[in-house]
Amino acid sequence: MKQNGLYSSLATPGVQGLQPYQPGKPVSELERELGIKNIIKLASNENPLGPSPRVLDVIRGALGDLARYPDGSGFSLKDVLASNLNIGTGQITLGNGSNDVLEMVARTFLSPGEEAVFSRHAFAVYPIVTQAVGARARVASATPDYGHDLEAMAALVGERTRVVFIANPNNPTGTYLERGALNRFLAALPERVVCVVDEAYFEYVEAEDYPDCVPWVENYSNLVVTRTFSKAYALAGLRVGYAVSNLEIADLLNRVRQPFNVNSLALLAAEAALRDQDHLARSIELNRLGLRQLNEGLGAMGLRVLPSVGNFVCVDVDRAAAPVYQDLLRQGVIVRPVANYELPNHLRVTVGTQAENDSFIEALAAVLDHD
Ligand SMILES: *Cc1c(COP(=O)(O)O)cnc(C)c1O
Repeated sequence: MKQNGLYSSLATPGVQGLQPYQPGKPVSELERELGIKNIIKLASNENPLGPSPRVLDVIRGALGDLARYPDGSGFSLKDVLASNLNIGTGQITLGNGSNDVLEMVARTFLSPGEEAVFSRHAFAVYPIVTQAVGARARVASATPDYGHDLEAMAALVGERTRVVFIANPNNPTGTYLERGALNRFLAALPERVVCVVDEAYFEYVEAEDYPDCVPWVENYSNLVVTRTFSKAYALAGLRVGYAVSNLEIADLLNRVRQPFNVNSLALLAAEAALRDQDHLARSIELNRLGLRQLNEGLGAMGLRVLPSVGNFVCVDVDRAAAPVYQDLLRQGVIVRPVANYELPNHLRVTVGTQAENDSFIEALAAVLDHD
C-alpha cells in the first residue's frame, strides 16, 4: 500500500498534531495475549455491579425494534431526566456518552485562534476536542495534590477564551472542587466564556461540600453541566450522557449534534436505569466500601493515594509506574497508567468488587516486592 504522507499533510493542522485517546486495555485483548481467563479489569472506571436487572429486561424486550431508527429527540428519556432534575426538557442535550457532548461544545464555541482553558492532569478528552477544532489549549498549573487550581485557571481566561472545562471530580486524580470555590469562580467568569462542569462521577460523590451544579444553570447562563450513564449507572458500553444548559446553548448544541447520536437501546436503558434508584444506591454503597478498602490497603503498603471522591483512586507507586502496570498485566490485573496525564509514577485504579480489590492489592504487593 502506497503511503507517502500526502494525506497527513492535507489534514487540518489541529488533526495533524492530535494524539488519540488511550483507552484502558480491554479484557479480551489481555486474554488473547496471555492465554488466561479470570482477568480483573480496574482500568476504565466501570461499575463492577453491572447494570440494573431491569435495564437488561428492557433491552431484551426492545430487540424486535432494531430495524427502526431511534427517537432522534430522545423525548422519553429527556422527560424523565427533566422531571428528576427539575429543569425543562429543552435544557437537555443527549450525547453518545458525555464525550459526545464535550465535543459538541468544542465544535459550537471554539474555532482556530480561540482558546479553551483547563487544568493540568485534567480529563484527556478536553485537549483532544480543543485541538481537533483547531483551537488553542491553555493549561493551568494544578494544586499540590494535582487537582484543579481555580485561581490559576481564572488567570488564563482572556480575550480569546471561549470555553473553560472543569472536571468535578477530576479524572484521573479523583480530586474535587467544593461548592464555595466553584461558585466564586463562576461568578467571576465573564458571561461570554462558556464553562463546562463535567460531573461524570456525580452520583458517587458523598462529600458534604460537593456542589450539584445543575440548579446553578438558572443563575449562570454560560454554565453547561455534563453527566453520564457510563459510570454509576453502569452503561458504559451503550454510550449515553447528557448536558444541562440554558435553552439558547442547548439549541446551538442541537445544531451540531448528529441526528441519531444516541441509539434506541441506550435511550431505553438509560431511562430504566434512572427508574431503579435502589440499584444505584447499591452501586454507591459498594463504591464507598471499596474506596475505603483500597485506601487502607494501599496506605498499609506505605503508598500515597490522592484523596478521591470518585469510583477510582490514583496511587503514587513511588517509582516509574509503567513497569508496575506491565507486571500487573502479567498477573491478570488491568489498571491504568497515567503518564499521559503527566503523572508517570501514578496508577489509576477503579474500585471493583471486594474480591477484585483484594486481588489487586495482593498483586500490587507482589509486584512491588519483586524489585
Ligand atoms: C468517564 C468520563 C466521562 C464520560 O465518558 P462517557 O463518554 O460518558 O462514557 C466524562 N468525563 C470524565 C471526567 C470521565 O472520567
